[in-house]
Formats: sequence, C-alpha cells, structure tokens
Amino acid sequence: MNAEIIAVGTELLLGDILNTNAQFLSKQLSAMGIDVFYQDVVGDNNDRLKQTIHAAIGRSDITILSGGLGPTDDDLTKEMVAEYFSLPLIFHPDIEAGIRTYLKGNMPDSNRKQANIPEGAQPIPNDYGTAPGVLLEREGKVVILLPGPPRELEPMFKNHVRPYLADKTGCTIRSRTLRLFGIGESRVQEVVSDLMASTNPTLAPYAKSNETTLRITAKCESEAEADALIDGMEEKIQERLGQFIYGHGETLLPETVTRMLMERSITVATAESCTGGLLAGAIVDTPGSSAIFSEGAVTYSNAAKVKNLGVKQETLDRFGAVSEETAREMALGIRARAESDMGIGITGIAGPDGGTPEKPVGLVYVAVAYGDQVYVRRCMTAGDRAKVRHASVLHAFDCVRRILLGMDVQIAREICANHLTFERK
Ligand code: ATP
Repeated sequence: MNAEIIAVGTELLLGDILNTNAQFLSKQLSAMGIDVFYQDVVGDNNDRLKQTIHAAIGRSDITILSGGLGPTDDDLTKEMVAEYFSLPLIFHPDIEAGIRTYLKGNMPDSNRKQANIPEGAQPIPNDYGTAPGVLLEREGKVVILLPGPPRELEPMFKNHVRPYLADKTGCTIRSRTLRLFGIGESRVQEVVSDLMASTNPTLAPYAKSNETTLRITAKCESEAEADALIDGMEEKIQERLGQFIYGHGETLLPETVTRMLMERSITVATAESCTGGLLAGAIVDTPGSSAIFSEGAVTYSNAAKVKNLGVKQETLDRFGAVSEETAREMALGIRARAESDMGIGITGIAGPDGGTPEKPVGLVYVAVAYGDQVYVRRCMTAGDRAKVRHASVLHAFDCVRRILLGMDVQIAREICANHLTFERK
C-alpha cells in the first residue's frame, strides 16, 4: 500500500513556514509500513491544486492532504476533492453543532462552510480546532483531509487516522528507538550485524548529531505480539551495548540525565571553559531543574579559573588550562563555592585555532566531583567548533549518568572487539 502527501498553503511555497506536516506524516506512515512515494506542496490556487489532486489520487492508494480546511474563501481542499469524484458537498448539522460548541457559541457565519463535507465521506473529529478532518473511500482510493496547524493535525492523525490505516493494512507495526552515546554508527553496526539480518523485528541504526540510535520495528497482528518481539531484540542489544544505551524514544541525553539528578535530589554546579555555559543551559532546558541546579560559572581565562574556582596558578603553569588536573580543580572549586553535591568542570580546545601536537583541537577534559571522588574523562571529538562544544556537553552528561549508575566513566571501546571475538568462536 502506498501513500502521497499534499501540503496545501502558499506560505509553504514562500518559505514562510516549514513543511513539518509532511515530515510528521511521512515518519508516521513509514513506521506503519506504508510507502510514501511522493510529497507535494501546492499554493492556495484552484487550478494547480486541482492538477495536484488529480495526479496524486490517480497514482496513489492513499492521498493525504494537509491545510486548506479553514473557513475562508482560499480554503479549497474539500471542494477540489469533491469535484474530482463529482460529489456534492453536504452540510452536516452535527458538525456545525460541534464547531459552535468548540467556539463557545460565538461562531462567525463563515465557519458554517467547515460543516460541509463531500457526500459519502466521514468527518474526523478535531479535538484542538474547528475544522474536522475528512475521510473518503471512493473508487478503490482513500483520500484523507487534515487541518494545517500541526497541533491539530498530529493528534488527529494519531488518534483517528492511524487506527483506521492500521486496520486497512491488517497489521500492527510497533517501533522502539534506543538512544546510544559514546559509540559511532559503524561500530554499532559491527556489533549488531547478525541481528540486522532479522526481518521481523527489523533493526536499523541511524547516526545523529553526536549520538547513534537503533530502531527496532516489529510487524504483527497484535500490539502485544509486536512488543514481545521488540523486547526480545532489545534484550540481545542490551547484552552487547547496554553501557552505551541511555534511553528510549525521543528524550535526549541532557534531559535524561538532568531528570536522573532530580529523581535522586543531587544538587549540581558547573564550571565551564570551552563550552561557555552550554552545559548550564542544557541543564536549565529541563523544566524543574531549579530543584537541583544551583549555579554555573563560565571561566574562560586562566585568571577567572584562579579567581572564581580556586584553580592553583601552579597547576595552570605546570599542566596547562587544558589538562586533567585543571578540570579536576575546576570541578572541586565550583562544588565548594556552590556547596552542591556535585561539581562539573569542562576545559578543552574547541578550535579552529589553539591546537598543538600534544593537545590537538577537539581535546576536552570533563571532570565530575561527586562524593569523595573526582572522575575525569579525556574526550577527543573530530569536527568543527560547534560539534566539539556540543560533544563536550554530552560527554559531561554521560559521565554523570555512568557515575549515578555505578559504571566506569571511561568508554570501554573493547566491548565491540570482545563481542566480535565471541562471535568468531
Ligand atoms: P485554519 O482553520 O487555521 O485556516 P487550515 O486547515 O485551513 O486551518 P492552513 O490555513 O493551510 O490550514 O494553515 C494554518 C496554519 O497551519 C499555517 O499558517 C501554518 O502555521 C500551519 N501549517 C499549515 N500547513 C503546514 C505544514 N504543511 N507544515 C507545518 N505547518 C503548517
């Protein structure tokens, strides 16, 4: 079964808004095993919309349109679809009553238009706006009309359209995403290459910005069967790559770790050099972090490190600002100053200048003072300044995660080699 997505709206063509509906719908459809062969964008123009709709319905099993369901005269989607199938638009008093209730009785006349849908079509409830969606099955084709605003389209698709399409495809498709930090996509592939041969569930690795994800997808008659297959696959992956897996789904490492600190009521303070406050900002991004984050210092110069964190001049002279020793004193210094449970220090060379053969661009030390220990990770990141700074922040979060879970903060690269040796036996 294949699908085509038509996003309607002149503002999309002008570049005023990004076509996130197409991205959302494509992701959803592909996760259900429905192939998306075309995505179209068309302005609010009668003739071009008609041509696009004709081409799409002609060649695709399912055509999904987003936008153009509003009350104004340039909202033409329903009219064009009705015309394609030579169907009249029928007024539905119950839809009008729903719109009136949504607008708390204050309904302008123009909204009545939204209660018209093509004959034989079903309205799709809109829990977050006035325009209902429309579902039409005709001549072996399915046409689905959804409202433009993502906050209306996304829940409408998930709550009403997805179950309908799952019924049509006769199977349930479930996916689970595992998120990994500290191991690249190619290494992940090596470690799970035998599992990637599986056809149900399937396993697909993806490289993201400074992290890797693994998506497990199962296709079954019931959700329970699909979940059982996914659980089995995840168990095997956890055995091989468990130390790198920090979470599931859409939550990223900074939020995952900030929440771990919040759950354990561990207060934290940060001292940053090359990341210039990015770590503090990433902690503060998580709502509720005020319960555990006391302060962040940006100490870029040596003088600031000495004055604000108590880093010893002798340490800077002997080992340099980018060194394990300085990172360690930064973490201890900020923890003492903030009287927090944990102190994190980051110092490194983000580039493009400032590297030497001994201390190249991309070298960063992350230190975490916690309990009676200071844990230090020496990180090397290839890439530009932004990538090095972003990776450094993630390394800091990863060190904290590993400390809280009682794991070694060092990234054990040999895990991959061990696994491959094991496989060869
Ligand atoms: P309304 O009743 O709000 O007019 P509509 O179904 O007619 O809804 P449009 O008028 O086409 O939808 O779009 C309304 C708003 O929804 C746009 O201004 C834009 O902010 C957002 N939107 C529309 N299409 C898309 C899209 N493809 N991707 C992301 N956002 C979109």
